[in-house]
Amino acid sequence: MADILYIVVPCYNEEAVLPETARRLRAKLESLTASEKISKKSRVLFVNDGSRDSTWSIIEKLHGECPLFSGVNLSRNRGHQNALLAGLMTAKERCDMAISMDADLQDDIDAVDAMVEQYYDGCDIVYGVRSSRQKDTFFKRFTAEAFYRLMNFMGAETVFNHADYRLMSKRALEGLSQFKEVNLFLRGIVPMIGYTTGAVAYERGERFAGESKYPLKKMLSFAMEGITSLSTKPIRYITMLGFLIFLVSILMLIYSVVRWATGDTIIGWASVICSVWAIGGLILLSLGVIGEYIGKIYLETKGRPRFLIREVLEDTDDGQAD
Ligand code: UDP
Ligand code: MG
Repeated sequence: MADILYIVVPCYNEEAVLPETARRLRAKLESLTASEKISKKSRVLFVNDGSRDSTWSIIEKLHGECPLFSGVNLSRNRGHQNALLAGLMTAKERCDMAISMDADLQDDIDAVDAMVEQYYDGCDIVYGVRSSRQKDTFFKRFTAEAFYRLMNFMGAETVFNHADYRLMSKRALEGLSQFKEVNLFLRGIVPMIGYTTGAVAYERGERFAGESKYPLKKMLSFAMEGITSLSTKPIRYITMLGFLIFLVSILMLIYSVVRWATGDTIIGWASVICSVWAIGGLILLSLGVIGEYIGKIYLETKGRPRFLIREVLEDTDDGQAD
């Protein structure tokens, strides 16, 4: 018996693309069911993220016409990540594997076959990785790549050139549901789940209708969100800076003592210059130390699972003589 696949699609003001997206996803599901790769109970799950256009009524109509389509309607706009999570958590109860993808089908849906294949080969998470961004504008490509580099530098480790196009098994979704944090940055959290992972490369296309819901402003706040919710490295950088300035202050101390000893300074110069550097360094260093503790508290309050068990080997048969 083949496993149940749910394709989870967050939608925010996507009336321009939904009918076509639905048509293509339906064809994909039907071809996968026909070749018996997935169960007939597989579905496309649209999540309406508080759209202000007719997105939800289109979803209702699709659901009425074809049982392959189901929908979740959020109470208001909560943003891409939350909409996606809502969809994944709804799918978790019903599916064996879920694939998340954007409503504009910029991510090549033909990669779905390869993802499902890797799932059957034992992968719990299969990342869709962009092989190139030739179809994106230069600006989008440049800012997006700068985004990944900045994230990694700031300690928010993510899979390079992977957005939210991925397959997750039921077990991986159960793991994800144990991350209770409110500021959920899925791309950073999913690699923390572990288990066997795979990747599928695909070519990213253009949005075929409508416009991007991720302008630069949203992308920057997304990066900020990602960094501050995943890592406390910025605090570490402050501590390091404080330490560095403190070292400089020692050099300055030596320098000004030498200048003072050789006698070519104004009275008071040496003491002022030493205090400026030493106090600046000490203040930064102390801020960093306080920050380190706050960072610890911050990570504790997230209450992340400390481990997820892959498998247990035990003998449940108590017929053994002892
Ligand atoms: N999206 C959402 N809520 C939002 C913004 C976006 O659910 O507040 C969805 C949107 O409908 C799409 C996906 O997130 O399915 C990605 O958005 P988009 O394609 O506009 O981003 P881009 O590909 O330009 O980065
Ligand atoms: Mg898009």
